[in-house]
Amino acid sequence: MNKREFIKYSGLAMGAVVAGTSSVFASSGRQKEKKHAFKGSALKLSFIPFELKLRHAFTIASNSRTTTPVILTMIECDGVRGYGEASLPPYLVENQKSVSDFLSKLNLSQFNDPFLIEDILDYVEGVEPGNHAAKASVDIALNDLRGKMMGQPLYRIFGLNPDKTPDTSFTIGIDTPEVVRQKTMEADIYKVLKVKLGRGTDKEMIETIRSVTDKPLYVDVNQGWTDREQALDMIYWLKERGIVFIEQPMPKERKDDIGWLTQKSPLPVVADEALQGIEDLLPLKGFYSGINIKLMKCGGVSNALKMIRIARAMDMKILVGCMTETSCAVSAAAQLSPLVNWADLDGNLLIGNDVYEGLTVVDGKIVLPDRPGIGIVEKVKVF
Ligand code: MG
Repeated sequence: MNKREFIKYSGLAMGAVVAGTSSVFASSGRQKEKKHAFKGSALKLSFIPFELKLRHAFTIASNSRTTTPVILTMIECDGVRGYGEASLPPYLVENQKSVSDFLSKLNLSQFNDPFLIEDILDYVEGVEPGNHAAKASVDIALNDLRGKMMGQPLYRIFGLNPDKTPDTSFTIGIDTPEVVRQKTMEADIYKVLKVKLGRGTDKEMIETIRSVTDKPLYVDVNQGWTDREQALDMIYWLKERGIVFIEQPMPKERKDDIGWLTQKSPLPVVADEALQGIEDLLPLKGFYSGINIKLMKCGGVSNALKMIRIARAMDMKILVGCMTETSCAVSAAAQLSPLVNWADLDGNLLIGNDVYEGLTVVDGKIVLPDRPGIGIVEKVKVF
């Protein structure tokens, strides 16, 4: 695919932005997949804005949309390329401009050893606070790069058993009973569904899905409930209908109400909006019984792995989730999935213009590719 075709395909609004390299469209042949004889060369970061097109309009308690902007990244060393991504749904503070601005400030060419990930990420962290998705796009690319240079998938480098990946849920957004019924039937291959609630049609949503399937359901309220007594009644009602856990039932600021709910709830209560990075984790003890870790919130694979270790020590349940993302970021998160209780890694399945191929779902279960790094290959030439 040439540049013109790519821009047409991606709906690209902004020009390519490059840091420390001549052109993001420069071709360098197929990614080497064998163990690489490491010599070391200055790291070269490239990035490009891209617009993901959703297969269906996606509605949750707070908004509805049909596209998601992302920034795709690439870090090159010794001719080997590692890929990353920042996904930027509009309800978060970061956007394509903020990510481009942040990445433009980075001088990764001062490093010539991509295995020094801790040093490189310390430097990136020190450039500016926040910018979690931008930092995730660097971290994912570095982890992909080191895996490719070692000729090993990340899960193997982390010592994880690929047979222990969980089933992934598939998300059903808030919609009319007809559409919900249709989407539930289309989600045939998934063994568990995640249902968005919190817009006043909760019982109707669940009853509609239950008229089609008796699969286990995860429920995500996206902070949509406001009364804790009513929330508890609803959780008991949901428990009778095969729901596994309740995600972010009330606004994250209502910590005491959520703590009360968690104490009384017969189902695990999982933090999502209440949790961004590692610094938010310890204060959740006693207020939630589980956490939803997403690479875009916590800054990437390296931080997610640290958070998983800490959450396990806190005896909390762990869900690994994602935004609407290409197979790049979703496959990166999937590398950690053998360590978690539940996975909601369907972000790539919700878009119609994925540029990568990575994890697959077989009989509802995540299957990690037997490829080095995060395990992706380009379906469309991006860089
Ligand atoms: Mg959520």
